[in-house]
Amino acid sequence: MDMKQFDAIVIGGGILGCMTARNLRRWKIQTLLLEKEDDVCKGITRANSAIVYAGYDNKPGSLKAELTVRGNANMAKLCEELEVPFSRCGSLLVTYEEVSLPKMQRKLENGIRNGVPGVQMLTGPEAEAMEPMLKKGVVAALYAPSTGTVNPWQLGIAAFENAVANGAEVMLNTEVLKIREQDDGYVVETAQGTFRCSMIFNCAGLTADKVQKMAFATTIRLELDSAEYLVLDPAAQKPERVIFHQAKSCGKGITAIPCSEGNLLVSGVRKPLDIPFATTVEGLQELYAATKELLPQVQLEKVIRSFGAVRPNPHRENGENVNDFCIENPGPGFYSLIGIKTPGLTCANELGLLMAEKGAEYLGAEKNPAFDPKRKAISEKDNEIICQCEKITRAEILEAIRRGASTVDGVKRRVGSGMGRCQGSRCSYAIERLLEEYGQWSM
Ligand SMILES: Cc1cc2nc3c(=O)[nH]c(=O)nc-3n(C[C@H](O)[C@H](O)[C@H](O)COP(=O)(O)OP(=O)(O)OC[C@H]3O[C@@H](n4cnc5c(N)ncnc54)[C@H](O)[C@@H]3O)c2cc1C
Repeated sequence: MDMKQFDAIVIGGGILGCMTARNLRRWKIQTLLLEKEDDVCKGITRANSAIVYAGYDNKPGSLKAELTVRGNANMAKLCEELEVPFSRCGSLLVTYEEVSLPKMQRKLENGIRNGVPGVQMLTGPEAEAMEPMLKKGVVAALYAPSTGTVNPWQLGIAAFENAVANGAEVMLNTEVLKIREQDDGYVVETAQGTFRCSMIFNCAGLTADKVQKMAFATTIRLELDSAEYLVLDPAAQKPERVIFHQAKSCGKGITAIPCSEGNLLVSGVRKPLDIPFATTVEGLQELYAATKELLPQVQLEKVIRSFGAVRPNPHRENGENVNDFCIENPGPGFYSLIGIKTPGLTCANELGLLMAEKGAEYLGAEKNPAFDPKRKAISEKDNEIICQCEKITRAEILEAIRRGASTVDGVKRRVGSGMGRCQGSRCSYAIERLLEEYGQWSM
């Protein structure tokens, strides 16, 4: 049987797979992206904190520290190229306890050694003056002006569109089931056919360990846990900066994030995983209480949505934590990103570029002079408003469908319909009708 041959197959269309495919096309590397779901960016990439980290949390000299500071510095240019909103709002890590001061001081020292611009320790009164919503009694705050926020799935989808515009091929609804190593590369079996390739980039998120095990051993095992989130209406009062709460000497409290779209997002502490991407009554109750405690004036009556996230925590088989980013290269031309959690969004383009550079060197590939890093955002508008809350028009929705949205959720993640106060109860029906009528369009 004739099998289609590619230079590179990228497994998984989350933000890391999309950024890897985009960057592979900077070289003449024929690329196929395989995604098991009906759309890209529906896994970890759709449920996270949307923070562009400054880089003081990471150990000096680690890959995480290097890529976070670089990813943060390059984020404005990346978002300009891909026409995705980015807000460099800054952040405060606040503590109310003297016992946390040594830990905060170590973070400040890490930040300085990692080259985080402008990082500094503030007194309690200075922090309270900057963020009047904070509960009074702040003991100290670590201020990082370079912290920002970006919509993770918008950035991932923009990278995906840019990869496709630069010639990457894509197959959705295509789960990789088996991988066989051959003398000159790999055979990849999927539910939609079998392909041959010289290189594999495993970006399978929550199942990246299992995908690597289809062909090679790995000493890394992913243990999943969860975090819960609240989303508030943009009209709710919010802090100007991201607020991290250093709750105990060794722990992290809630995080309040003024998102680039104007909503306040609040994330809770980690919990054992029950049902993936689901919330729990106890988790939400705890989150409501902790939010009210840190930000007493917060308008919790303006919560419009809650959601659960899943974190892939990498451990060695011997139980040891893996604290740095882990890029495995278990066989010739086989590269795995395993257990890339926070700050994987901040570093997504840097990780994608690193993977592509490794691939280009392995193949001895030439640069692609036709590569265009720019992508246009959806800007078509007409007078027919379909989503009343977010003022999204029919023309924008049709453009989202033309670019590949095949469900109401896919339209939502491309143009923001259904993101407002009514959470899609008024526009979903009309969008379904448009999908029925125009859903055969594709990129
Ligand atoms: C709770 C949480 C909060 C976070 N907050 C931040 C933050 O504020 N800032 C920051 O910088 N980073 C943050 N991160 C990290 C960041 O979100 C992740 O590193 C990033 O989204 C990971 O993307 P991914 O592409 O690896 O995973 P995913 O988005 O899950 O993509 C993997 C894809 O692979 C597909 N797939 C899996 N198996 C197969 C198969 N066999 N065949 C085909 N396709 C397959 C899946 O369907 C999925 O689409 C956070 C992470 C978590 C979990």
